[in-house]
Amino acid sequence: MKVVGESVFLGTSVNIIIGSHLWVEDQSLAWIDGQVTKINGDEVEIQTTHGKTVIASFRNIYPKDMEAPAGGVDDMTKLSYLHEPGVLQNLATRFQLNEIYTYTGSILIAINPFQRLPHLYEAHMMEQYKGAPLGELSPHVFAIADVAFRAMINDGKSNSILVSGESGAGKTETTKMLMRYLAYLGGRKGTEGRTVEQQVLESNPVLEAFGNAKTVRNNNSSRFGKFVELQFDKHGRISGAAIRTYLLERSRVCQISDPERNYHCFYLLCAAPPEEIEKYKLGNPKSFHYLNQSNCYELVGVSDAHDYLATRRAMDVVGISEKEQEAIFRVVAAILHLGNVEFAKGKEIDSSVLKDDKSKFHLQMTAELLMCDLAALEDALLRRVMVTPEEVIKRSLDPDGATVSRDGLAKTIYSRLFDWLVDKINFSIGQDPNSKSLIGVLDIYGFESFKANRLYMLKYFRINTLVTRFLTELMTWGYVCLCSFEQFCINFTNEKLQQHFNQHVFKMEQEEYTKEEIDWSYIEFVDNQDVLDLIEKKPGGIIALLDEACMFPKSTHETFSQKLYQTFKAHKRFVKPKLSQTDFAIAHYAGEVQYQSDQFLDKNKDYGVPEHQDLLSASKCSFVAGLFPALPEEMTKSSSKSSKFSSIGSRFKLQLQQLMETLNSTEPHYIRCVKPNNLLRPAIFENVNIMQQLRCGGVLEAIRISCAGYPTRKTFFEFINRFSLLAPEVLEGNHDEKDACKKILGKMGLTRSQNTRSCRLCNGFNEPTVTDRTSLSRN
Ligand code: ATP
Ligand code: MG
Repeated sequence: MKVVGESVFLGTSVNIIIGSHLWVEDQSLAWIDGQVTKINGDEVEIQTTHGKTVIASFRNIYPKDMEAPAGGVDDMTKLSYLHEPGVLQNLATRFQLNEIYTYTGSILIAINPFQRLPHLYEAHMMEQYKGAPLGELSPHVFAIADVAFRAMINDGKSNSILVSGESGAGKTETTKMLMRYLAYLGGRKGTEGRTVEQQVLESNPVLEAFGNAKTVRNNNSSRFGKFVELQFDKHGRISGAAIRTYLLERSRVCQISDPERNYHCFYLLCAAPPEEIEKYKLGNPKSFHYLNQSNCYELVGVSDAHDYLATRRAMDVVGISEKEQEAIFRVVAAILHLGNVEFAKGKEIDSSVLKDDKSKFHLQMTAELLMCDLAALEDALLRRVMVTPEEVIKRSLDPDGATVSRDGLAKTIYSRLFDWLVDKINFSIGQDPNSKSLIGVLDIYGFESFKANRLYMLKYFRINTLVTRFLTELMTWGYVCLCSFEQFCINFTNEKLQQHFNQHVFKMEQEEYTKEEIDWSYIEFVDNQDVLDLIEKKPGGIIALLDEACMFPKSTHETFSQKLYQTFKAHKRFVKPKLSQTDFAIAHYAGEVQYQSDQFLDKNKDYGVPEHQDLLSASKCSFVAGLFPALPEEMTKSSSKSSKFSSIGSRFKLQLQQLMETLNSTEPHYIRCVKPNNLLRPAIFENVNIMQQLRCGGVLEAIRISCAGYPTRKTFFEFINRFSLLAPEVLEGNHDEKDACKKILGKMGLTRSQNTRSCRLCNGFNEPTVTDRTSLSRN
């Protein structure tokens, strides 16, 4: 047979002949396998297993491993051909067998099964994974948690587990499993009552009730990022914990789109026992504006009545008193009533009044539940105090302005409530000031490129519901992109985390080889520092320019966009889209994302409306007043009654900086969650979708580097154990392991320069690579 060409991948070449089995790119399946039937210059004709004949260039084909084990391999680095289609096929094969976990070196890939697999998480499984070296048992979240725990105990160093993936990929479920396992390892056996670990575990249902909601992509979507820090004492027992949350989605409190829901707690409360419904004058969720913008009220397989009681029980465990619980739900009810207050035009120009008796009733209920003055509440909604150098003027708001004021108040109350819950949980679990080591678990939103809000479309495009529904569908499937400030912050987070990942996996690896003086041809990886500079550089980055625009009263999103275009016209990561005068695009590490700047200014301003602040800090309910502590005098003096500007973007940047500092002081472990399909159903594996997620999660890059470097590492001891039979005499009287290794190699005629890896990518050589340094061992 004639060798006619070579397919190049990962810098290596593979000979292709007629009859070769290979993979070729396919639009709908990502990769499709077939056999070469003809070779014509630079192109090959392939008969695919799906019965199609395709022509492809050598550059786009990859060899297929015909010897691959039928059940796949549990670590991608064991694949003979480590390339995209091989990885995809391996994951698909395993997924079919309900093997949802696979390693890529030390990274765990977890594919959401969308079905309960209880055998995976039973108590005896925890027992099995306890102390087992990584790789000895099937890949599992417990194994990663165990490695982190052992590393912490043995090295006394803090560890972190970073769980990432797109919405619905299974991050929160994975995080809960990790925490359950760590609580099992670090718990106090046989202890009754509220132990630290029980409180940590029960904080999940509480935070989920107030911070999770049904979205198109996940019925229990976390609308905030979370970092849980478990502190351990010197005996390896959990002695304290701290929960940090990031960027709760505030807009959801007032705006939802079909078929999504508002935060779970609203529906739970509407399903509370009758005496509470009566006390709060609640009833059917359909009667509340903040809930009835969508037709979705119930979740399949979920009982809100049951979850209400479960949430109350979890609140008991985390130390929220009966009185506090009553106040919390009173505030939740108040928000629902507040949303039903409507406005009509007043007699004076640009003024408004309560629309009808129904609105008066709901306003009264809001005031009663918040225990604040009714007239002051009405005033705070209908009027705004303006401060000019000469005088203080009370300006009326038109009905639209009053509605914005009402929604602003609802959002502020809700986000303060959420922050209160987090603080309370942290306070009652308690911190261990003497703890030397911790394990942090990060559950944070993945890279987003196609999320959008239907209401936003309705408002801005004034298109009918049917069209909106259609567009939403398209967006859900990734065909239409409408990204706003939230996605910008989320993608900024992911750039940061990607850099952390790069630094850890890639830079550390390179540095290690350099330090070890191992011949290492440097592998290129995409460094995203330039994207981070574009976003966060001070002065001059996008966040800084946005803050500037927000502080300048005459700025609009148009002037902001023009400023961006001017400043970054030569920046290779910044793109001005041809068809828009206000959108901008960023070439993120995971792909280009176009942002609509329309709401950037508004969303970046964290208005603390002084009227709302004054109203609620004067509440007769100490809980409500506590949510709005009086501002220090110097702050009130300096800006008097004007709205105070503070930027969400800059605050978020700071939070992120602190998170990165914490992560940088830990030994990281990575879990990449993958959502196998957008239907949220079991047993459906969507190739293209999954490929995209592996790319965004850096998995493919990690595979590339692992494969091009030294994926297998042995300690001197292991090397001697395995290969001393080749030269048993070197062990006699020799107690220096390194020296013995050298001698074995010498006897086999392997000099230092020959002692480099043989590339198993090109010739299927599958022996472990030998490096001559103990420190390269990961065992
Ligand atoms: P978001 O970013 O929207 O919060 P997420 O990545 O946190 O999404 P999860 O809420 O953890 O996603 O998972 C979505 C759903 O998938 C869960 O409610 C559950 O039904 C299912 N699921 C996830 N992981 C598992 C698992 N290991 N076993 C069974 N079902 C799972
Ligand atoms: Mg989640």
